[in-house]
Amino acid sequence: MTAFSSRVSSSRCPDYQSSHLTRAVENCLTALEPLPFSRGARVLLKPNCLSATHGPDLPVNTRGEVIEAVGQYLQNHYQASLVIADSGGMGSYGKTKRAYALMGLERAASRLKAELINLEEIGLIEIVNPQGKICSRFKATALLDQIDVIINLPKLKTHILTGLTGAVKNFLGLLPGSLKRDIHVIAPNGPLMAQALVDIWGGIKAKVPRILNLMDGVVALEGAGPTRGQARAVGRLMASTDPVALDVAASTIMGFNPAKIPSIVLGAEAGLGTADPSGIELLGDAGWPELPVPGFKHPFTRTREWAEAIIPAWLIGKAFDWLYEAKPRVRPENCRECGLCVQACPAQALSLSEGGLHLKQKLCIECYCCLEHCPSQGLWVPRGLREKILGD
Ligand code: SF4
Ligand code: SF4
Repeated sequence: MTAFSSRVSSSRCPDYQSSHLTRAVENCLTALEPLPFSRGARVLLKPNCLSATHGPDLPVNTRGEVIEAVGQYLQNHYQASLVIADSGGMGSYGKTKRAYALMGLERAASRLKAELINLEEIGLIEIVNPQGKICSRFKATALLDQIDVIINLPKLKTHILTGLTGAVKNFLGLLPGSLKRDIHVIAPNGPLMAQALVDIWGGIKAKVPRILNLMDGVVALEGAGPTRGQARAVGRLMASTDPVALDVAASTIMGFNPAKIPSIVLGAEAGLGTADPSGIELLGDAGWPELPVPGFKHPFTRTREWAEAIIPAWLIGKAFDWLYEAKPRVRPENCRECGLCVQACPAQALSLSEGGLHLKQKLCIECYCCLEHCPSQGLWVPRGLREKILGD
């Protein structure tokens, strides 16, 4: 008999109707019972509240209806005292409240009689993760000192920098305001960002060990996520106490090889979760072969990273650098000069002047935070030689 290290439960959920969500949440959470906390616990519901620009038409943020259904389960079964809190993404500084309104969080909090806290408005504490390779010491929300349990509620989405936006990545929202920008500066590419995310999650787990993750995959985001992709009906909720294992299931849905997703590999290497599907017990109405959604669109490949994995960097040289660099370009006809990308850029590579939006190529670290936050496709990234020479 196989000894499983982690469990992931999943349940079909065709839409965001309350009765469907209630049943799917029940299916996912009862399969994992007993949950890792006691009655009356003070529970943080932590959604993905990335964008203050997109409403439910583009599945960028966790839906308020999912948060409400999870909160109801926790109140019914654990008499939990609920706090809903997050902070907006880098292009949404100071706009977390607007994101809450777009997500329906005010309504969910009122129905659940939960506290709704904007993490931009409260203090910070220092978190230490002695095992951290990039972030062994960082600041995060002081709310972590005041709760017993975290229910991490990510959205099923692709991500142009890290492959997928999964359960591990969602903890980044516990670092409000410019703290996220600081992480992008010290971790300017996909693999480094994945290490930083694992370090951050490891530190948060040491502070609040009781963590449960439930992913909103009813309508996912495919293509150039986390904010520029397209909606894709997947019709599934999934849950696990192990965010690495949950991300393995999420990447399987999206057609990624989990062994190629850095946050999964590094999370398992840090001893924080299970990356090997054979060590994960999948509970619920689907087995591993039923999970993949055919033709799920991936973000453009960061070709240079893949090339560097097989060719020594010293052989690549300047020509190769030019060929595979993937710095954004401005699409002036789409740019509304709103400044969101300037605000989001951690490297101060973008500026607005009378001549419009300007990118200082030398400063750009290819993190794509600007693309994440542009509401009007005012930036684009050339894919390959043809687009690099001929343009968009
Ligand atoms: S210009 Fe865009 S891709 Fe370049 S560093 Fe700034 S946010 Fe990142
Ligand atoms: S590129 Fe997009 S985010 Fe940047 S100023 Fe133009 S419209 Fe705004």
